[in-house]
Amino acid sequence: MNAHTPVLIVGAGPVGLALAGDLGWRGVSCTVVEQTDGRIEQPKMDLIGVRTMEFCRRWGIADRVRDAPYPGDYPQDCVFLTGLNGYELGRERFPGRAFEACPPQSPQKRERVPQDMFDPILKRFASSFACVNLQYQTALVSFDNKPDRVEATLRDVQTGETRTLTADYLIGTDGGSSLVRERAGIAMQGNQALTYTTNVLFRCRDFPSLHRMGKAYRFIFIGEEGTWLTIVAIDGGERFRMSIVGTPDKVTHSEDDIHAALRRAMGKDFDYEILSVMRWVRRELVAERYGAGRLFIAGDAAHLMSPTGALGMNTGIQDAVDLGWKLEAALGGWGGAHLLESYERERQPVAFRNVRASTENLGRMLSTRDRRPPPQVFEDGPAADAIRAEYGGWFTEAMRHEWFMNGFHLGYRYDDSPIVWPDGTPAPPLETSTYTQTARPGARAPHVALKDGRSTLDLFGRGFTLLRLGAEAPRAEALVRAAADARVPLQVVDLVEAEVRKAYQRALVLVRPDGHVAFRADTEPREPRAVIDTVRGARAAQGRAHLEAAS
Ligand SMILES: Cc1cc2nc3c(=O)[nH]c(=O)nc-3n(C[C@H](O)[C@H](O)[C@H](O)COP(=O)(O)OP(=O)(O)OC[C@H]3O[C@@H](n4cnc5c(N)ncnc54)[C@H](O)[C@@H]3O)c2cc1C
Repeated sequence: MNAHTPVLIVGAGPVGLALAGDLGWRGVSCTVVEQTDGRIEQPKMDLIGVRTMEFCRRWGIADRVRDAPYPGDYPQDCVFLTGLNGYELGRERFPGRAFEACPPQSPQKRERVPQDMFDPILKRFASSFACVNLQYQTALVSFDNKPDRVEATLRDVQTGETRTLTADYLIGTDGGSSLVRERAGIAMQGNQALTYTTNVLFRCRDFPSLHRMGKAYRFIFIGEEGTWLTIVAIDGGERFRMSIVGTPDKVTHSEDDIHAALRRAMGKDFDYEILSVMRWVRRELVAERYGAGRLFIAGDAAHLMSPTGALGMNTGIQDAVDLGWKLEAALGGWGGAHLLESYERERQPVAFRNVRASTENLGRMLSTRDRRPPPQVFEDGPAADAIRAEYGGWFTEAMRHEWFMNGFHLGYRYDDSPIVWPDGTPAPPLETSTYTQTARPGARAPHVALKDGRSTLDLFGRGFTLLRLGAEAPRAEALVRAAADARVPLQVVDLVEAEVRKAYQRALVLVRPDGHVAFRADTEPREPRAVIDTVRGARAAQGRAHLEAAS
C-alpha cells in the first residue's frame, strides 16, 4: 500500500465519491477511505438535481442515472391528505421521471434516483480510474495537519490495525458528525435542532392497492395537529420511507409509536415489513470555515440542512466540483497561492442561502401547525368538500416553493469570488423558483443547444475554455499566450451561432473548468496576464473597483 497520496478523501458518501470521480476524470491520483463496507442501510437522498445531472453528463454517467431502476412511469405527485383512506386536500401533479421535460435552461432534468442506486453509479465511475484508490472498512482516526503535508492515521475496521498515510491535501467528506471538521476545530453556526425526526424504511408489496390516493411520490399527512407525517415511494416499487416529522423537542419514537403511525396513516391495519429505522436531527448549520491549512471539508461535513428542497447532497456535489479543478491546479503547479482559499469564498455563501431556503420550506410544510385545519376537513359532505378545497388550495400553493427551486439548483453564483474578473455590470437578483441564465462573471455558463446537437455545456470541463463568439470576435491572442505562459490549460472555441452570442452577451467569454464564467468582454483585455493570474488564484484578493477599472 502506498505511504503517500496527493489527495486523501475521508468518507465515500455521494460527495466523497463525486470528488474522487471528478479527480479521477482529471487524472489526479487520490485515495478514498470509508469506514463502512459501503452498504446503504437506509437511502437518504433520492432527488438528483438538474445541476448535479449536468455534472453527471460531463462525467459521461448521465445515462446510467437515467437508466437506474426507479421506474420511469411512477407518478411523482405530491399529495396532501388527512390519511391514505381519508381525504385528499390537494395535489401537485408531476409525471413519472421518464416523462418530465428538461427545463429550457439545461440539456438535463432532475432525476428521482435514491442513494442506494446513485452511490453505486458514483462508485463505479470513481473506480473506473486507475488513479483512484477506494478503501472500504478503513477509518480515519486522527491526523496531523503539517505545513507541507497531512499525516493521517487510518485503522482497518476489521483487524484493528493502524497505519500512516501522508497526503498533500486531506478532504473531509465524512458527513454531519465529521471527525475532520471537529479535529480541525471548525465550529458550525446556525440552528442545532429544527426537528427530532424518525425515518422508517418499510416494505409493502401492495401499498397502492390498499388505499384510494393512487400512486404518488410523496404523501404529506395533515391531522388535527397539522403536518405530522410524510411517506415517500423510495424506489417506485415495494419500499417506502415514512418520516415522523417531530418537533424541536427531543423525542425518541418507540416501536409502538412507529406501528401506530403506520396504522394511522393507512387508517387500518395492513401488512408491512420494517427494514430499518433511522432517528435523526434536522439541522440548519454551516461551518464557520471550509478549510484549515491543507485540509478542506465538503458536503454534510460543511453544511447540514433540512431535506425539504433536496438541496443537501446537491449542494455537496457542487462543493466537490468547485474543489476538484482547484486541487488539480494546485497539484499541477498552475494554481496560484490563493486558488484554494477561493473554495470557501465561493461555496460558503451558497450553503448559507441553501440551508435557509431549506428551513423556509420546512416552515411552509409545518405551517399547518399554526394555521390548523378546520374540523370540517375531516368530515363528509359537500360543505366539508368546499372547506377542504379552500384549505388544501392554500397549502398546495404554499408548498410550490419546494417543488420549483431552479433558482437554487442552477442559479447559484460566485458574484464576490476573488477569482472572477468582474465586468462592471450589476448583479441580477438571485431567483428562487425561476432561473434566468446569465453569463455574468461568477455565474454558471448558460446552456444553449448547438446546431450539431451538443450543448454549450459539453464544451466545458477539463481546463479553461475561451469562447470567441461571432465572426468579429477579438482573437484574444495575448490572453491565450498569458494562459500558456502560466501553464493554465485553455482551449479556444470559435462559435458563430447567434443564439450563443445572445445568451453570453459578449464576444469573449472565459469559462472555468467547473463551468462558471471567469471573465467576459467585447474587446481585447487590457491586462491579459492580470486576468489569467486572477482566475488561477495567483493574485491576493483585490478591491473589486481595481479589477473593474482594469477591465
Ligand atoms: C431523509 C433525507 C432525505 C434527503 N433527501 C435528499 C435529496 O433528495 N437530495 C439531496 O440532495 N439531499 C438529500 N438529503 C441530504 C443528503 O442525504 C446528504 O446531504 C448527503 O448524503 C451528504 O453526503 P455526504 O457524502 O456529504 O455525507 P454522508 O452521506 O453522510 O457520507 C459520509 C461518509 O463518511 C463516512 N465516514 C464518516 N467518518 C469517517 C471516518 N472517520 N473515516 C472514514 N469514513 C468516515 C461515513 O461512513 C459515510 O459513508 C436527504 C437527507 C435526509 C436525511
